[in-house]
Amino acid sequence: MEGGFLSKKPYEPPSWASHLTPIPPHTFSLGHLPTPIHKWNLPNLPDGTEVWIKRDDLSGMQLSGNKVRKLEFLMADAVSSGADCVITVGGIQSNHCRATAVAARYLNLDSYLILRTSKVLVEKDPGLVGNLLVERLVGAHIDLVSKEEYAKIGSVTLAEILKNKLEKEGRKPYIIPVGGSNSLGTWGYIEAIREIEQQIENSGMAKFDDIVVACGSGGTIAGLSLGSRLSSLKATVHAFSVCDDPEYFYNYTQGLIDGLHSGLDSRDIVDVINAKGLGYAMNTSEELEFVKDVAKATGIVLDPVYSGKAAYGMLKDMASNPAKWQGRKVLFIHTGGLLGLYDKTEQMASLIGNWRRMELDESIPRKDGTGKMF
Ligand SMILES: *Cc1c(COP(=O)(O)O)cnc(C)c1O
Repeated sequence: MEGGFLSKKPYEPPSWASHLTPIPPHTFSLGHLPTPIHKWNLPNLPDGTEVWIKRDDLSGMQLSGNKVRKLEFLMADAVSSGADCVITVGGIQSNHCRATAVAARYLNLDSYLILRTSKVLVEKDPGLVGNLLVERLVGAHIDLVSKEEYAKIGSVTLAEILKNKLEKEGRKPYIIPVGGSNSLGTWGYIEAIREIEQQIENSGMAKFDDIVVACGSGGTIAGLSLGSRLSSLKATVHAFSVCDDPEYFYNYTQGLIDGLHSGLDSRDIVDVINAKGLGYAMNTSEELEFVKDVAKATGIVLDPVYSGKAAYGMLKDMASNPAKWQGRKVLFIHTGGLLGLYDKTEQMASLIGNWRRMELDESIPRKDGTGKMF
């Protein structure tokens, strides 16, 4: 179907981004877009602060979350280059690796995932929890490395080593960097800004003053902040970083937007705030309790590694700097990651109650509704 789901189409940037170079020639339609925007009635907001949420967690099922937007561009490039497989790298519960494995299978490419885990687990079967289940179901090849090896060798060299090995076997691998965060992947969230602009225009609602999002490898904030500045949106982008420090992300984002010859300074277009807490993919019980409270109060299930920490950080910042947020209309981008929550069930068990054995009297007669189950 021309222009439909999973089809490749020529890419036309928004007019306000047409001066950026290089402009990708093609894109694949992989996400279920546009994702909805709705009001989010979070408890304990400062007076007059409105929070809305953009549901990028609903961008698709196995492909859910923010990575699908980047993969629309990265996969188009992989296919154009004649690749027969893709290589990417991430943490053991990487949403990016799972989305890449699914997208690759949709497009009939094999996927090779280099996953980082602890030294004690690196020699063992990684199991089937969360993202691993989906990756292994779609037939991804998994290479485990320890955190120490990862820190020593680096993701770029690890991917190169695997690429050389596959090439010797006659394969044509295409490397997608950690998180899909290179200048090409940045177009995914430039496009998301165009989508938000259109949603505002179509609904006639007031513009957003601020955009809040989690930041892990930097590609999402690079696209959002560049797009917001160049478009009519002009919202301030606040990035809550869940791994490295703000300085790292200002520099990394600078590299991504320099790669598009934007001529802008990352420090002028994005506000990076540290929300790392105990460290990447590690949670305090306060954070997990917050995820539970938000789910209970609003029905929105945040992931523990990214959007959970970002929303937790946002409310903390709102409490300590109310003047910064008072009277503002904020758009929080839920970047997905639900499968990562399955890795936290043990830590969450004590926070969650609410079950009982149903009370049934012996004398209740057996009636309709039993079907053919017994
Ligand atoms: C990867 C990821 C992020 C962070 O996006 P980056 O572009 O890597 O900064 C946020 N949320 C979820 C659920 C993710 O998987």
